[in-house]
Amino acid sequence: MAVPTDETETGASANRINMDELKSEWQRVAENLRGSIGEAVFQSWIKPIAVRGMQDGVARISVPTRFMRDWVNAHYSERITDLWQDENSKVINVDVGVFTDRTQKSASKPEILRADTVVEVPQLLETTLQSQAAQISASLDRRFTFDQFVVGKPNEFAYAAARRVSEASLSTPFNPLFLYGGVGLGKTHLMHAIAWHIREQEPDRNVIYLSAEKFMYKFIRALREQTTVDFKEQFRSVDVLMIDDVQFIAGKESTQEEFFHTFNSLVDEGRQIVISADKSPSDIEGMEERLVSRLNCGLVADIHATTYELRLGILQSKAQQVSAQIPAKVLEFLAHKITANVRELEGALNRVVAHSQLVGRDISLEATQDVLHDLLRANDRRVTIEEIQKQVASHFNIRMSDMHSARRARSVARPRQVAMYLAKQLTSRSLPEIGRKFGGRDHTTVMHAVRKVDELREHDSSFAEDVELLKQMLEG
Ligand code: ADP
Ligand code: MG
Repeated sequence: MAVPTDETETGASANRINMDELKSEWQRVAENLRGSIGEAVFQSWIKPIAVRGMQDGVARISVPTRFMRDWVNAHYSERITDLWQDENSKVINVDVGVFTDRTQKSASKPEILRADTVVEVPQLLETTLQSQAAQISASLDRRFTFDQFVVGKPNEFAYAAARRVSEASLSTPFNPLFLYGGVGLGKTHLMHAIAWHIREQEPDRNVIYLSAEKFMYKFIRALREQTTVDFKEQFRSVDVLMIDDVQFIAGKESTQEEFFHTFNSLVDEGRQIVISADKSPSDIEGMEERLVSRLNCGLVADIHATTYELRLGILQSKAQQVSAQIPAKVLEFLAHKITANVRELEGALNRVVAHSQLVGRDISLEATQDVLHDLLRANDRRVTIEEIQKQVASHFNIRMSDMHSARRARSVARPRQVAMYLAKQLTSRSLPEIGRKFGGRDHTTVMHAVRKVDELREHDSSFAEDVELLKQMLEG
């Protein structure tokens, strides 16, 4: 096939290759491959390939990672060469390289190249990385970086550990790093931050992030399609493997088995592993003993529930990001009221901001209370049983210990029943749970208390008022 020339440039036109032509040759080669290897394999290995140029009959292509380079070289380079020769008889060989920063930065180079010059043609490194990531790794949230993570007492340990892992390029400071904590406290954010940091600083390192659920799904699919060897290969060749919400594979034996082997071989080869869960390794039920002990081997870092200071800090930082004018009073109010987790806090702030933009009014405390009334009520209802017991005990002037004691005198039994009643009304605790908190009483005792208080409220209006007052105080 003739090499297209550009007569107008210089006399050496015979040496020129039109990059567009080279690219469209590659497109046809790739399409051809797609037909023979199937869509899934194509997406994983061929799609991320970018054409860089041609020199002395060597077509140069590149991929995002060293691992992919080796894989493409071992499995596809011959076929690629054959197919490319069919398109362009000048192609003798194919060279597979790895994207470098330099490749990315040469974005302004002209697309016409001399046949005897290496020209690195810009390909959007990011897009390619993302498309590769879409196959093996899950995509990363742009906002989840270290810069945007607000550090406070409850998360400083986990943050420091995550930073450390992301900066240790050749060693594994602790393996695995196990992050755990309640929902919405920043585990996923920290993992994405590690991935972003490494991808930025060392694009050659193969970082994979995915949920345990996705890991399992991929594993099951590999079993079904009988491609478990490829599956294992993919995971065992990463530099950093991050698995989010690992509690998901609790009780799922074969997935755990596979995970255990992947885990071991990566650790043995000195690759970094980062794992998150909602509980500590030992507290996850249905986790195999040997897996638990391996998970406990590295560094276990927990993220504690947020404090008022951290919540306020996060709100200030988010308010700044959306450049919204929010009175300090409103931020303090939200930090005080929305205590469940950071996700809910963010959601509340977004709602307040969106509302003010929609109605075109400044954000005020009144508007905030109004917009969030449902959320605030739900948060208010999160009273603990201990708080109820304390409040009721002080109202009826009995000792806190009487809430748990076996004393049955009316003077303590009645207040205790009121506290049980309020615990049922104001918390989401079950009857047995409530019973346990009242000195290990049976759930039928709690049921009886609830009925008794209801009955009394109907017949005794001053008692009913008392209970109503307590309820209001507790709902704050
Ligand atoms: P988890 O994975 O622990 O359930 P996420 O990492 O998904 O929680 O966090 C929930 C939301 O809260 C995300 O939008 C995240 O950016 C935000 N978030 C959590 N902790 C912080 C923090 N310390 N600073 C800033 N944003 C945070
Ligand atoms: Mg998460």
